[in-house]
Amino acid sequence: MSGEFDLIDWMRRNVPATANERNVRVGIGDDCAVLDLVHPGELLVTTDMLMDGRHFHLLEHDPADVARKALLVNVSDIAAMAGLPLAAVVAAALPRRAMGGPGRLGRELHAALAEVAAEYQIQLVGGDTNAWDGPLVLCVTLLGQTLGRAPVLRSGGRPGDIVLVSGPLGGSILGRHLRPVPRYAEAVVIHQAADDRLHAMIDVSDGLAADLNHILEESGGLGATLNAEAIPVHADAVTLGARDGRPPLEHALHDGEDFELCLAVDPTIADWLVDSVAPAKELYLSRIGTIDAEPGLRLRHADGRVERIEPRGFDHFREPEADR
Ligand code: ADP
Ligand code: MG
Repeated sequence: MSGEFDLIDWMRRNVPATANERNVRVGIGDDCAVLDLVHPGELLVTTDMLMDGRHFHLLEHDPADVARKALLVNVSDIAAMAGLPLAAVVAAALPRRAMGGPGRLGRELHAALAEVAAEYQIQLVGGDTNAWDGPLVLCVTLLGQTLGRAPVLRSGGRPGDIVLVSGPLGGSILGRHLRPVPRYAEAVVIHQAADDRLHAMIDVSDGLAADLNHILEESGGLGATLNAEAIPVHADAVTLGARDGRPPLEHALHDGEDFELCLAVDPTIADWLVDSVAPAKELYLSRIGTIDAEPGLRLRHADGRVERIEPRGFDHFREPEADR
């Protein structure tokens, strides 16, 4: 097994069968994949690219982790719309100097992608495979669809909405960032329960403050006040804070890649979602603040003091260090 076509042939024979298989008329092997649109609804399309030296370091990180992450972050984006993932295409630029050769690396990546695909019932239906003297670049595009309800956008937040998060935040850089757990099932359950009173949703990839700010800006320039003691702080944020001297809450507010959901829900259903739906469905939800008409992000401390916080997410154009 050596050339590009051997690899593609091998991948074609190693695609997991999933519940969505029946939607695939033509998978890997032709110029395009052909999918039947079975359920009524809207098509969701998302893509994410991971680059060696930027998002990971092939010398340190397991290629299987990299591949799984490349697909999982896309599942997280579909989850953030409360959609159903269906099919993925994968574009890989394989380094010719990879240990064991590009063919071996390609198979390793594909095997890991196939694992995640099987878990989330995603069909791998195509892609593009190149080899070059540059570093590994892996780009996954995921197609999904809505589930009988309108997709949940960032732009639906309203003053008075309650802000919820689906799990503890901060310190993902200690390792969790490579093994994201997309809150896909949670998003579907919450959407079914809340229906159109789930106003806006985003997955936390840039950091809570930055991603909540995306909701506020897209919703017409709103603001929010968060309760400092209500923000769930991950144990990793505490560990990291002990190391770098920064408060764990700061990590929870600004670290990225938690892949939890941040939601804006109608105030009439917030308590019911948190106190009844979440425990009954065994999912985690906590209320962390309120959306206000007044723009800006504010943090209210236990003693009543209110502090302005700046959303400072990760910006690839501004930050040159290869640290994520
Ligand atoms: P073309 O030149 O027509 O795009 P390719 O030779 O690039 O065809 O690919 C042949 C087939 O293999 C296509 O169906 C393509 O979608 C699939 N394919 C190529 N690379 C991958 C990959 N990394 N993962 C899944 N399918 C792939
Ligand atoms: Mg091609």
